[in-house]
Amino acid sequence: MRGVIMHAPGDVRVEDREDPTIVEPTDAIIRLAATCICGSDLWPYRGVDKLDEPTPMGHEYVGIVERVGNGVKTIEPGQFVVGSFFASDNTCEICRAGYQTHCVHRQLGAATGAQSELARIPLADGTLVATPQPPPAELVPSLLAASDVLGTGWFAAVAADVGPGKTVAVVGDGAVGLLGVLAARQLGADRVIAMSRHASRQALAREFGATDIVAERGDDGVAKIKDLTNGLGAHSVIEAVGTQESMMQAIRATRPGGHVGYVGVAHDVQLPGEELFFSGVHLHGGPAPVRQYLPELIDLIWRRQVDPGKVFDLTLPLEDAAEGYKAMDERRAIKTLLTV
Ligand SMILES: [Zn+2]
Repeated sequence: MRGVIMHAPGDVRVEDREDPTIVEPTDAIIRLAATCICGSDLWPYRGVDKLDEPTPMGHEYVGIVERVGNGVKTIEPGQFVVGSFFASDNTCEICRAGYQTHCVHRQLGAATGAQSELARIPLADGTLVATPQPPPAELVPSLLAASDVLGTGWFAAVAADVGPGKTVAVVGDGAVGLLGVLAARQLGADRVIAMSRHASRQALAREFGATDIVAERGDDGVAKIKDLTNGLGAHSVIEAVGTQESMMQAIRATRPGGHVGYVGVAHDVQLPGEELFFSGVHLHGGPAPVRQYLPELIDLIWRRQVDPGKVFDLTLPLEDAAEGYKAMDERRAIKTLLTV
């Protein structure tokens, strides 16, 4: 098969690779219908995360099941499936509480890399969710978005306790932040403030339901959120970046008693204990348990209630993955879909 390997920062190649095989009886092999490049793939691409060796890339996937191991009971060849970046048994106590990304048996969802023609998915019954039928082509981008960025934005909104009567601020205008806007709207928020300085991202935020745009960031951004909320701060703030500045912006933009849902992968974030103590805000986040939300998100997409696939503003063949990375690194693209 063909698949993406990152050799070093900035060095992404599409290569001939071994086809994945069934290793454990609970595995499935899927043939990808489409895959994509994640904002988190840019951390090693930019040299922020160290790469020890050439690494298969990609953790977002949708596709048709080709084969299953003899321990797989519910997932069958021929089904079109969506899964998450962590595989989970979906039966342990942590999974049943809705925290499948922390499953006691968790492992990488697509350890063989999902930016490829085929992928091995462990714990297939617990990890994969089948669509009612193979989807029409126009739904594939949205189903692919459900695999990570929509599920992550959704969890961020839930963690931030979004609901009717609430004002929500969203820090970060990448795919997750933008879909956090969509999730906040779906979950009934009254007002959704997107923080973005980019015209095209502001436009998409509005399309997804943002009622206000704040272009300022850092302390100026916080002051702007307070201006818009009678000096109190937002009830709910979604943090979808993962830097010191974005995390503090989120905490300081939240009113006492409010909630921060943080899903940007933290990089060198240090929380000042005393400020946190006196802020009176709730903090919850981490790697999103996307699996918890997949049935609901697939249903919303299937009924065409949401169109999260709009975050893909660049579509390239898998062979041109290197250009897809470059476009996202240079912020020319929000998110790149790779056709397989
Ligand atoms: Zn589990």
